[in-house]
Amino acid sequence: MIGAGSVEMLLRVKNLKKYFPITGGIIPRVISNLKAVDGVDLHIQRGETLGIVGESGCGKTTLGRVILGLIDRTDGEVIFKNVNLTQCSAKEYRQMRRHMQIIFQDPFASLHPRLTVSRLIEEPMKIHGIGTAKERKARVEDLINIVGLSSDHLPKYPHEFSGGQQQRIGIARALALNPDLVICDEPVSALDVSIRSQILNLLADLQEKYDLTYMFISHDLAVVRHVCDTVGVMYLGQLVEVASVDELYASPLHPYTEALFSAIPRTDPTLKRERIVLSGEVPSPVDIPAGCRFQSRCRYRMDVCKEHEPNLIDRGREHYIRCHLHDQTAT
Ligand code: SF4
Repeated sequence: MIGAGSVEMLLRVKNLKKYFPITGGIIPRVISNLKAVDGVDLHIQRGETLGIVGESGCGKTTLGRVILGLIDRTDGEVIFKNVNLTQCSAKEYRQMRRHMQIIFQDPFASLHPRLTVSRLIEEPMKIHGIGTAKERKARVEDLINIVGLSSDHLPKYPHEFSGGQQQRIGIARALALNPDLVICDEPVSALDVSIRSQILNLLADLQEKYDLTYMFISHDLAVVRHVCDTVGVMYLGQLVEVASVDELYASPLHPYTEALFSAIPRTDPTLKRERIVLSGEVPSPVDIPAGCRFQSRCRYRMDVCKEHEPNLIDRGREHYIRCHLHDQTAT
């Protein structure tokens, strides 16, 4: 979809759902579903960084893994580089999948403890049958330098490195197959504060150098503001607001986003903002209420919110919101 003056849409996700069945009874049968991801639509342009934010358990990590195919989807479509991954052949899927990689939250847990750094980085190329042994060796040496380590590190094992170095190795491995899209799942939240900025700067440099597209999953709103172009706010398996980072941080519209962002410290002490403390229970994803999912915690709740689930509507300027307060067509 590249046209004159237009940008390529790298990823489209349509009505994506992931339900985890819950079984019970003497003769085990599915008695309910945990709706981790429940009808997500999103798109990412090439070169863009889309942030996905929300509290623990909102489904953001599951969303990333379902897009990558690490977890089977329940329903919906994932269209990557104009190929519908949910309809293509196994062979085509395998070819496409190598262009989507992931950086995990816990770098040590994501690296096989008995493999040397050299083998860890080479492994994806071997699995996909890329290059000769000599070419792969050269590529591994390139990659370790690209992420700010050196060839001396290649014969070592993951436990011999600091958390920041382990994450650099994880990034080198993610880059081994020349991906277009990298899903960064809380890539700095397990690291010391002092080295988070180094890893974030490395990711920014790599994006510019290799024209990478990121989906950046995080609960850290300050980090998301720093690295993302567009942000989607997730609540109980759904996106409730999506907008450019500037627009969202300047004027969050959804009551949930408003409360989340009210906790961000302001750099200008003359600018006052009311701190909104969310009260009320978060509904179980196994027993989601009718109407708006946020109603139990919303200070603006109306009668319509209890009966009708709001749709994600476009407020203009690519600002989408799921709330009856902002939907003129609400009944
Ligand atoms: Fe609050 Fe109603 Fe909007 Fe839900 S739809 S966020 S309950 S005002």
